[in-house]
Amino acid sequence: MLLTTLHAGFTVDEMVDLDLSYAPPYAPVWDPVPIAIRQIIKKVSSGIERDRMIEERVMFLSTLFSDEPEENGLPDYLQEELLRPHKVVVVGAGQVGTTFAYALLLSGLVGEMALIDVNRERLEGEVMDLNHAVPLSNPMRIWAGDYPDCAGADVVVVAAGTAQREGETRLDLVKRNTRIFADIIPRITEHNRQGILLIATNPVDVLSYAAWKLSGFPAQRVIGSGTVLDTARFRHLLGRQLHIDPRNVHAHIIGEHGDSEVPVWSMANVTGIGLERFCGRHSCHLGAKERAEIFRQTRDAAYEIIERKGATFYAVAVGILRIVESILRNQYTVLSVSTLVPGYYGIEDVYLSLPSVIGRAGVERVVYLPLTKGETEAFCNSADVVRDVLDGVQDIWSD
Ligand code: NAD
Repeated sequence: MLLTTLHAGFTVDEMVDLDLSYAPPYAPVWDPVPIAIRQIIKKVSSGIERDRMIEERVMFLSTLFSDEPEENGLPDYLQEELLRPHKVVVVGAGQVGTTFAYALLLSGLVGEMALIDVNRERLEGEVMDLNHAVPLSNPMRIWAGDYPDCAGADVVVVAAGTAQREGETRLDLVKRNTRIFADIIPRITEHNRQGILLIATNPVDVLSYAAWKLSGFPAQRVIGSGTVLDTARFRHLLGRQLHIDPRNVHAHIIGEHGDSEVPVWSMANVTGIGLERFCGRHSCHLGAKERAEIFRQTRDAAYEIIERKGATFYAVAVGILRIVESILRNQYTVLSVSTLVPGYYGIEDVYLSLPSVIGRAGVERVVYLPLTKGETEAFCNSADVVRDVLDGVQDIWSD
């Protein structure tokens, strides 16, 4: 009865908005419900005018779900789940954290967002600025919070960290950021044992592994933003070279989010057609020289941007948003995130990026890519690079 009613009335997005996780995300889209009802759902899921809207929504849903008007109540656990607005917490309100927060605000995906940072004054300024955009964009509650605010969050995004100091080695920086994580992660998990940790701080593969160890969460619920960004850069450059919308270019960067990352040329395609064939047929050029240059520009993009403007934050923020969207809406989107490699290519016990299916539970599946020999070797080399760094810092979480 429940599913039939839902199928008869809601679009897929709205079903997922209602947080009925057992409503299949791939259910066919039927005629939309009347606009007024959709507005109620939208407003309630964004957490505004909560009391009145909750009442309306419960009445509305009760009517839908019950054949007997006198038995209008839903089970308490379902009511609570239906009424809870999505909540995201951002730890580290620097350039990456706040750009993501701004993108999340504009997306209208959540009803509540708390930001946490050691620099309280800056944090309060950022939150004031974000809140002033609320009346012009999407109704939601944003506040300068602290770790207890992680309670009930669907996703906690961690973008806290420090930059390299003069004379400091890369490993010194890794150690410093890992120590920050040794402080932050237990403070988050003290208040939240059910949510998903999404790590952006660099080196992201090492810190995602550290967060996994420090949290005690299943690896499925500790995700690094990984090569989502590098893959977007790769697809942007390929799209430009081929004169194709980059969204129609399917190509992945895997391995470390860093110098040893690997382009999977063997499986890159446009609408299912391999690049060589596509170019042969459609007179575009993508020879060895162009491929090498596209990969160089992908791999070195961060250096080039940092040289010009000091930091990178727009694209990574949208990458994080895309991961969060796929989690909250249970979209099962394939994204190249950093995850615990499940023994593929003989590799385990290290976090690296592979295309992964992202849904409500986090990493639902890691896609196995039938790589060429060269790609497999490059991926294994990437694993060695990350494992070397891990060896240098693991005493921090083993203590
Ligand atoms: P930033 O210096 O602007 O911000 C870092 C923030 O972390 C600061 O606001 C700082 O006060 C806060 N912080 C430091 N220690 C903290 C602690 N113990 N608790 C809470 N907050 C703390 O840096 P940014 O440009 O926002 O970059 C943040 C991280 O994201 C860096 O590690 C950067 O390398 C990384 N990054 C990752 C990607 C990616 O693709 N994964 C892309 C760009 C940047």
